[in-house]
Amino acid sequence: MAVKTAKRPLLVRPKKADPIEAKWRTYGSALVITAHPDDAEFLCAGTIAKLCDLGMDVTLCVATSGDKGTRDVTIRRQELAAMREEETRHAAKVLGVKRCLFWGMPDGFLVEDHELRGMVVKLIRQMKPDLIITWEGFRAGFNHTDHRAIGRAVRDALYPAAHDPHYHAELAAEGIGPHRTAELLLAGAAEPDYHVDIGPYLEQKAEAIAAHASQVDNRTKEEILKTWFSPQRRNRARRKITGYDHAESFQRVEFRRPDGAPGTPAARKRK
Ligand SMILES: [Zn+2]
Repeated sequence: MAVKTAKRPLLVRPKKADPIEAKWRTYGSALVITAHPDDAEFLCAGTIAKLCDLGMDVTLCVATSGDKGTRDVTIRRQELAAMREEETRHAAKVLGVKRCLFWGMPDGFLVEDHELRGMVVKLIRQMKPDLIITWEGFRAGFNHTDHRAIGRAVRDALYPAAHDPHYHAELAAEGIGPHRTAELLLAGAAEPDYHVDIGPYLEQKAEAIAAHASQVDNRTKEEILKTWFSPQRRNRARRKITGYDHAESFQRVEFRRPDGAPGTPAARKRK
């Protein structure tokens, strides 16, 4: 007669669930605002793919046309801008992004002023994102002026203008009311405090970057992927910092969103 033995306890402990990822599962939408057509893919394509995978409706807004992003002096700037718009649409499709918005401002001339901030306020109020991703842009050393400008404009639009009704009150006449976002992820930060495991989304990230053929010398997805797996020592160092083999890192800001405030699920239900 067969004797039933007690099940052995599992030797491998299941990974602790990430409470932030659990929060993301409750979000409906995300907005990614960057300066140039390829910024989002290089900075956070894995995270974007993950947000889409979690069921969020993701919008990508690119402020400049990237019309100066080449050393080829034979190409016309308008031609390059059109090419880069197409590349961005292709990359967005790979990641599962729902829509791309192009503001078409001249590359290198983004200025953080009332006009740019106002455009961001309007966009936030229209799209009503729970989560926003943009540039931190102030990392020491080399950085692009457009990265700083858009990063600051988004932060300053988020607080307090997007959710305080007396700011840009003219938008109310268009039926665009205040909105309170729950969370901001600043990419490219010197001191990131949150790391996203992008292991399952590496192929999508490589394909999205390869879509920007004009920026990566026509390298293929496979060639890009190869660079992320060597040398091993670098991967080990990254794992030590982030806890993952492949990660994207952010400075994370959470906003108090009292129940019933504009943009919260309770307020949406009341409408
Ligand atoms: Zn850029």
